Amino acid sequence: MSEHSEDELLTFLEDDVDSQTGHLSNKSDPWRVLSVDDDEDVHVTTQLALDRVEILGKPVELLKAYTAEEALDVLGKEKGIAVVLLDVVMEDDHAGLDIVDKIRNELGLVDLRIVLRTGQPGYAPELEAIRDYDINDYRNKSELTHTKLYTTLTSVIRSYSQIRALEASRKGLELITQSSGKLINSKGFDEFSLGIIKQLSELLGLSDDGIVCTRTSSDDADIGMGYTIVAASGRYRSAINKPLNELQQPTVMQALKNCIEQQQNLLLDNAIVLYFSGQSGNDLVAFLDQTRKLDDTEKRLLDVFCSNISVCLNNVLMLSKLHHYAYFDSLLDIPNRLAFVNRIDEYKSKGIDASVVLVDVDQFSAINDTIGITNGDFLLGAVALRLGEVLDDSFVARISGDVFGLVGEREALTPDTVRGIFYSPFSIADQEQLISVTLGMYDLDEKVESGQEALKKANIALKKAKESLRGSHCYFTRAMEMETETRVRLLHNLRKAFDHDRLFMVYQPQVTVPDGRPVGVEALLRWRTEKGEMVPPDRFIPLAESSGLIIHLGEWVLRTAMLQLQRLQSQTSFKLRMGINVSMAQFRHPEFLNVLDRAIAETGVDPHDIELEVTESVAMIDRVAVSKTLSSIAKRGIKIAIDDFGTGFSSLSYLERLEVHRLKIDKSFIDKLQGDSADPRLPEMIVNLAKDLDLDVIAEGVETEEQAAWLKRINCDEAQGYLYARPLEETWLLEWLREQEQRLA
Ligand code: C2E
Ligand code: CA
Ligand code: CA
Repeated sequence: MSEHSEDELLTFLEDDVDSQTGHLSNKSDPWRVLSVDDDEDVHVTTQLALDRVEILGKPVELLKAYTAEEALDVLGKEKGIAVVLLDVVMEDDHAGLDIVDKIRNELGLVDLRIVLRTGQPGYAPELEAIRDYDINDYRNKSELTHTKLYTTLTSVIRSYSQIRALEASRKGLELITQSSGKLINSKGFDEFSLGIIKQLSELLGLSDDGIVCTRTSSDDADIGMGYTIVAASGRYRSAINKPLNELQQPTVMQALKNCIEQQQNLLLDNAIVLYFSGQSGNDLVAFLDQTRKLDDTEKRLLDVFCSNISVCLNNVLMLSKLHHYAYFDSLLDIPNRLAFVNRIDEYKSKGIDASVVLVDVDQFSAINDTIGITNGDFLLGAVALRLGEVLDDSFVARISGDVFGLVGEREALTPDTVRGIFYSPFSIADQEQLISVTLGMYDLDEKVESGQEALKKANIALKKAKESLRGSHCYFTRAMEMETETRVRLLHNLRKAFDHDRLFMVYQPQVTVPDGRPVGVEALLRWRTEKGEMVPPDRFIPLAESSGLIIHLGEWVLRTAMLQLQRLQSQTSFKLRMGINVSMAQFRHPEFLNVLDRAIAETGVDPHDIELEVTESVAMIDRVAVSKTLSSIAKRGIKIAIDDFGTGFSSLSYLERLEVHRLKIDKSFIDKLQGDSADPRLPEMIVNLAKDLDLDVIAEGVETEEQAAWLKRINCDEAQGYLYARPLEETWLLEWLREQEQRLA
């Protein structure tokens, strides 16, 4: 109730009652007056006096009772008695007042007006009785002549109808408040609209045959154009979702159009048409069959209801907007992750055999780098659009950056259908852009599970698919889930191990190829569990990377390796450098350069003796940022080696522009320098490339003399591998260095 206070409302209702017409029952309904007297003569005179008399525009109907008992009986059975003319002294002195007590307290008839009559002049009830029992008048029988009776009755009937009107409006207001409350709780616009019909029909005691329409497009060539029926019930039910212009009932359509045009409520002979103004042209028009004539009080209440509902309407519009923000992706204007999870829940509760598919656009960040962010956004929009068009029975949402979610019936969502959607290119900025997608699939099963869980499972499958092969698909399996659980446990243990100093470094020597002279070491991280088992870094490094733990861990590695280098240099005659692995997450971290500077400053190491190893893939992402970081590192005198070189997709022209110092030929190529079918082509190419670009080169994973011989032949200067030394702890490393000193002496 924000627009009309209750006081205001009561005021106009009172005005209304005074203005002759405002009454609760129909015009023809007479006022019912009960005359209670043991004297038949009194009844006769009263009847005569009221014959053909109209009070406040309506005739009077007289009912008779001769005893107190009979009077109470009539009052209990008959409805709508307005006045009792009561003989005070009947059977005994108190009979009259006893009835009054019973009327008020036992029958609870508080609206009923009571006029006491007595035959004995001078006899009057106590003042308290008059007040306590709400007795409205006290008259001597002789006074109740024709005119006197008329004026007395007119005044009490007026007050009776006022009381009734107030009561009705109070109830009406209560109902309005209640129904607004129910409406405001509606989940969305449609529910709200249907709620208007339901609440109105309940409020006014009408049938629920009704229609609500609202403007759904800005087409206003004609009155009512652009309006759609958003709620329909009762005999209009079939009209739901139709444009107003296609409504089958021409008179109803016309009435609604008139209401839209006039922007006000129309009370027709057999219909009520209501206008609710909403913000920014979102007005709402309701049509309701008027199966019963409304009186003026009800009409007034209707006005209050409408203005009240307009307020609610704006709230609902606001809520719908909030709802939109909460459940829609603002960039692509399609449902978001939250909406997706809810939709899975719906499929679940309907028991439909549904599949959940996550669609990940392959290499999207590289595409973004190439075509620019704006076009990247266009591409995502085009993908969303095409998914929605082709899979028109499935639900399409954006889950995150370049990942879309699909949920729909199982047959519609096979890997082939979904992948097939991307066989033809997208046209972005007049260019054809071909993309591939990787799919994570999950079939909802009977076990009760939330949309959230289903999404998690599809995501596990997606990760698996991405790990195995871009462009592939994977269905979720229980084994994957267990693997995920294992990873979670492993990560937990890794954190503990880090906190409890169970991580340590080993160092693998790097040597010159012709004579095996040590030139450096590569720092490699090790984890020994409480039980003494070794967990290989290939297992825990990716985990540390994906969890962000690598940031702390990497900093610790930097310092430890630098301190180690300081100790080594004081204990050996070889001039050694320290190779330190840096993963992508570390390298891209905004604090990385600061971390590096701090480590150098605090360990006092010469930056020229440090070589950071980054993989080819690190060098290839986000080219602008990477080349900036690389030159900042180079400026400090620190060297950069490209690790696992040859396994990625480096573009040579790009590589040429980067500030790198060394290529590390990946072990897989060195493995092939073996036996009769030895293939030196790739390592040789890399060596020549390095020479051309004026870069140093080192071969990794050298295990045999045969491989070493090949390296000599192709002029690879340096090598690292089990042939020379395994990764060693400090003590063993120092011993190995001493051996080499002796050997080379
Ligand atoms: P990587 O940087 O390519 O390291 C070389 C890996 O090859 C090491 O495995 C090393 O032990 C192994 N290796 C060296 N010579 C031979 C050989 O002759 N034969 C064979 N079969 N293997 C050889 P490791 O220590 O298990 O490390 C695996 C990967 O873990 C590393 O590959 C690196 O990517 C990562 N890693 C290790 N330590 C760190 C670290 O401190 N920080 C970061 N970010 N990554 C690390
Ligand atoms: Ca390495
Ligand atoms: Ca490597």
